[in-house]
Amino acid sequence: MDVIQAARGTRDILPEEVTYWQQVEAVARDLLQRAAYREIRTPIFEQTPLFERGIGEATDIVGKEMYTFLDRGDRSITLRPEGTAGAVRAYVEHHLHAQGGVQRLWYLGSMFRYERPQAGRQRQFHQLGVEVLGSADPRADAEVVAIAAQFLQALGIQGWTLMLNTVGTSADRQHYREALVRYFSPYAADLDPDSQERLHRNPLRILDSKDPKTQTIAQSAPQIFDYLSDASRQHFEQVQALLTQLEIPFQLNPCLVRGLDYYTHTAFEFQLADLGAQSTVCGGGRYDRLVTELGGPETPAVGWAIGLERLILSLQNLGACAVATPDCYVVSRGQDAEAQALKLAHELRQQGWSVELDLSGSAFGKQLKRAARSNTPLCLILGDTEAQAQTLQLKWLKSGEQATLSQLELLQTADELKAKIFVCKKAKTV
Ligand code: ATP
Ligand code: MG
Repeated sequence: MDVIQAARGTRDILPEEVTYWQQVEAVARDLLQRAAYREIRTPIFEQTPLFERGIGEATDIVGKEMYTFLDRGDRSITLRPEGTAGAVRAYVEHHLHAQGGVQRLWYLGSMFRYERPQAGRQRQFHQLGVEVLGSADPRADAEVVAIAAQFLQALGIQGWTLMLNTVGTSADRQHYREALVRYFSPYAADLDPDSQERLHRNPLRILDSKDPKTQTIAQSAPQIFDYLSDASRQHFEQVQALLTQLEIPFQLNPCLVRGLDYYTHTAFEFQLADLGAQSTVCGGGRYDRLVTELGGPETPAVGWAIGLERLILSLQNLGACAVATPDCYVVSRGQDAEAQALKLAHELRQQGWSVELDLSGSAFGKQLKRAARSNTPLCLILGDTEAQAQTLQLKWLKSGEQATLSQLELLQTADELKAKIFVCKKAKTV
């Protein structure tokens, strides 16, 4: 029979890789909680107009990447391509603004975009994101950037580059847009097809074209800095000063514009050198216009989203992950020994141990090989002799040191042994 495979652009995350995901999730939860962010979980699908209004029709996402379909009630539904629109919809729908002050939210979940699958680019992928709603203060911009940097640092990822730009306000952009159209029009025939199409619809996006020829032309294009109002310029200067004070290095990149229409002021990206073509792991910025666009009160906001697949590719390159190894591996053979081993494993787990029980019934040698492969420091061995005497062999795999112990004694000294196991595991990871 034909084997059915996972749909194009989706992939299974197998147990060995899940360890990385769990590490990333645990670090994120801990860090975000310490910074007073609260988790929000919104639906995986939304009414299509949410994204059309919230992301903008002239963007790649809305224009060609959305999974949109009519449901059985003829409603247009879209699988969420990103998390901000849903979080802001929920913020408005549930009047979170009425709680006053600043709302700090985070989310983690699957996103869906119809793209050409390649390394670090899938049709179903995962994002971790934060949104700070209700503050126009440049300190909010600096805070979210700093948290992204701390997150990468906590995971042991070094060698990132932070690219920073401002896109001003929509009023600043109005003039800038005109200047760009004037500049690019004479080169229209030399631009890549996407950029030609953007020339009048969304000329800012030409700046982040990946086409080499377009990039060369864009290098001499007018820069947004020259079109900023005093207030916009001041905001951007303050953000830079705060990042410098936090000792977070950044590079100004006037071509960084982000794909989404609702961005205002600060725009930023974190890039990782080891990711090749898909090097941007985190993208974010300020989006002061989105909340009103979605029917809420005037609410300045800033946030980012991190692509977890790309982050995990980079973690795998580092090889750094505390793989969950069991505290002990239990080997047994013979009817009575096997039953006693099951009970022993059960009781040790009750005492907080992680225990892997070999169920194969194969020869001791084979079971011991599997024990070594599990990376555990300690093996418990029960055969007929041990079963009769209610004892077991305690074998430390690294030193080969072995001793006979009564099963009762093992359970009574479990805490002391656990301390020794901890030391052995630690020695292995350094
Ligand atoms: P790109 O230019 O790579 O398409 P983007 O500007 O579309 O990125 P954002 O919408 O800002 O990306 O999303 C934030 C992050 O989510 C990206 O930096 C990336 O790490 C991740 N991401 C976006 N699209 C995908 C995808 N199709 N597969 C995997 N990760 C993705
Ligand atoms: Mg994209």
